[in-house]
Amino acid sequence: MKFPKQIRTYCPYCKKHTVHKVEKVKKRPRSELKQGQRRFRRIMKGYRGFPRPKPEGREKPVRKLDLRYRCTECGKAHIKGEGFRVKKFELVEV
Ligand SMILES: [Zn+2]
Repeated sequence: MKFPKQIRTYCPYCKKHTVHKVEKVKKRPRSELKQGQRRFRRIMKGYRGFPRPKPEGREKPVRKLDLRYRCTECGKAHIKGEGFRVKKFELVEV
């Protein structure tokens, strides 16, 4: 699907409608110092393996998008609701 690079929407920090830049959040390596990752490493260390149960049923073919909307006035980013599932995603100039 095609999605506009810039949209005019509500900014919860400025408390009004402003122009926002749409950003797709990139996956980055997990920090080894974070509590969750340290817990994960500790559980994986000894006997008994993976800490979370295997997902039941079939896997979904596509993942949900993680979009951030960055306000051009205050420079802060926020999330709007839950992401949606699409196979192809493209940011286009309008
Ligand atoms: Zn703002």
